[in-house]
Amino acid sequence: MQEERVAIAPGTIVYVDNLFGTRAIGRQGLLSPAQELRQAQNTIHQIALCHPQVTWQVKQSERCLLTISPGATAKAVMPQLLRNVHWHDLQQLLVEVPPPPESETEENPGKIQLVMGLPDRCHRRRPDWVKVATNGRIVKAPELEQTILAAFGRTLPRDRYPVCFLHLLISPKFIDWNRHPAKTKIYLHELEYWQAQIQGAIEQALRLTPENLPVAFHQERVGKLIADSGAEIDYSLATENPSDTSLLELRAIAQVRNTYIVAEHPGGMWLVEQHIAHERVLYEKLRDRWLLVDLEPPVILSQLTAAQLEQLGRLEIEVEPFGEQIWAVRSAPEMLHQREDCSEAIVELSLGGDLQAAQVATACRSAIRNGTPLTLPEMQSILDQWKCTRNPHTCPHGRPIYLSLEETALARFFRRHWVIGKSHGI
Ligand SMILES: [Zn+2]
Repeated sequence: MQEERVAIAPGTIVYVDNLFGTRAIGRQGLLSPAQELRQAQNTIHQIALCHPQVTWQVKQSERCLLTISPGATAKAVMPQLLRNVHWHDLQQLLVEVPPPPESETEENPGKIQLVMGLPDRCHRRRPDWVKVATNGRIVKAPELEQTILAAFGRTLPRDRYPVCFLHLLISPKFIDWNRHPAKTKIYLHELEYWQAQIQGAIEQALRLTPENLPVAFHQERVGKLIADSGAEIDYSLATENPSDTSLLELRAIAQVRNTYIVAEHPGGMWLVEQHIAHERVLYEKLRDRWLLVDLEPPVILSQLTAAQLEQLGRLEIEVEPFGEQIWAVRSAPEMLHQREDCSEAIVELSLGGDLQAAQVATACRSAIRNGTPLTLPEMQSILDQWKCTRNPHTCPHGRPIYLSLEETALARFFRRHWVIGKSHGI
């Protein structure tokens, strides 16, 4: 085979055919035609994610098997590859990352490009859509996949996995290809630095900022900008953590059924379920600060099993024998210690789970119940705290926290475009 360089202008069409024409038949481990096709498709999917500006067509015996339309970013490609995932379920982000401080190089900043499913909108049974690419190639990078999974921790329902495509555009000097003979697996130098950057980028993409609003919030404005500039990229480009002023404006308007807060924002309105929004707030507080305080007087419990005592010990809750089958609990999580149901809460914690599970249980018990009437200032306070959380989309059990009714969707529903002229109160 002879290799030569050619110039490629935009719009160039490249045909690749007879790919398996020279393969020896009967070799051991040879794939069936169907398997070969599936692998070829898979490979094309991967390249398409990394190079979304390319149109792909796969034909077999003149029959079209696969077409992938191009787009500005992988966000346009992903819904074509993943059934049941829509464009508006995805969030994308492009962040510039300076080279690691210890690397002592004068490198240009790298980039992290993220396209991910919002946790209240899509997730999968297997971690098969946690994909990492570096500089235009999909690779296996188990440490980075772990970072992604951890960043989505406690945002998805049990045993569900995120949809996330991470593309690192960084200097090749940070990438070590000597991990697998086929060069499909990499090590990264300065791994912890990159992991922290990726975690930060995912956190940023999950936050409730005006730029992050997935549903058509900026559609008109962005559409106009695109038309004006001729560009198609609609990334939210950010280099720093959002400050509080960049958070979404949310105003409590009313409470419905003593359960939902109606919140107005510049692009529409949301229904926020009060209990789980508050639960998310408290859970993150507990993650940041898990404090046990002394119980005075102690809580007396009876009938605890050895497993329960062991579990309380693991959570570092102080328990002492206090008589025949009676125990004195001398400390408890700060959030619980003044509650009337403190002893029930401790029994609940003794029934198992890790520290995170204990924090979820504590947050759930302490959060405002559905069915509780709230004043407007109380609702506003919940909204203000909730919108600052790191993972505002879902509660720690993975349930969606809000239902969005964006103005663009409402206008479509009410057929506002039917009205001609100004006589109907537009
Ligand atoms: Zn709950």
